[in-house]
Amino acid sequence: MGLFTKKEPCCICGSAQVKEKLADGWICQNCINNSGGFLSGGEKFKDVPKARVLQCTENHKKNMELLVQFSATRKVKKYLYIDENKRQWIVPNDIKDPIVMSYDDIVSVDVIQNGNSVISGGTASALAGGALFGAAGAIAGATVGKKSVKEEITSLMIMISTKNPNMRKEYIFLLSNGKVQEGSTTYNFLKLDVQNILSEFKIMMADAEEKKAQNRYGTTSGADEIAKYKKLCDDGVITKEEFEAKKKQLLGI
Ligand SMILES: [Zn+2]
Repeated sequence: MGLFTKKEPCCICGSAQVKEKLADGWICQNCINNSGGFLSGGEKFKDVPKARVLQCTENHKKNMELLVQFSATRKVKKYLYIDENKRQWIVPNDIKDPIVMSYDDIVSVDVIQNGNSVISGGTASALAGGALFGAAGAIAGATVGKKSVKEEITSLMIMISTKNPNMRKEYIFLLSNGKVQEGSTTYNFLKLDVQNILSEFKIMMADAEEKKAQNRYGTTSGADEIAKYKKLCDDGVITKEEFEAKKKQLLGI
């Protein structure tokens, strides 16, 4: 084996100006940029196969198209933008190309304070049921004797687990490397932001659940309706043409 690995053209676009070695070929800077990022935490280029780069490039392209069409109808400061018409949301986080998520992508929402999950909910009702920061009080308000010690909050974020292949975990950072005393005005403002964000997620998750239920209901109901009209057709109450037209209408085709 030689000391130097011979550079080959970019395995994606064929450019001779290659930048990094992948698991199974070389890649140029342009193709790295077009992928929107394909390295996961601590991973090296040489560990990544071309197939994943292609998949990421495809996902990135689709996301850019969604992003262009995304138009926020609701906002919680710069933390969360929602497009109610398309049932989508993004976390701007000051990054260039945030991932466009759908309401249906949301799996669970956690509030993480000083590294501990203080609120956790996998459904809208679970989020609604837990008293906001109820558990946080238990963790943060450690008592020494009778005197309550207020914790110093150094980090506060919301983690959203998603079904979106572009990003399985999305984070909203409210405080990082900070020094905020629990119970202070700053802390209370942060709490208010968290509550506002959580209530938006509750609404989106409730909407997703509702849609799911509707779809289930719609399918059964549509099938039932067709059967009903089929009987009317068989009985000669309506013509075959009328039945066909009704069927198409019910199936939405
Ligand atoms: Zn290339």
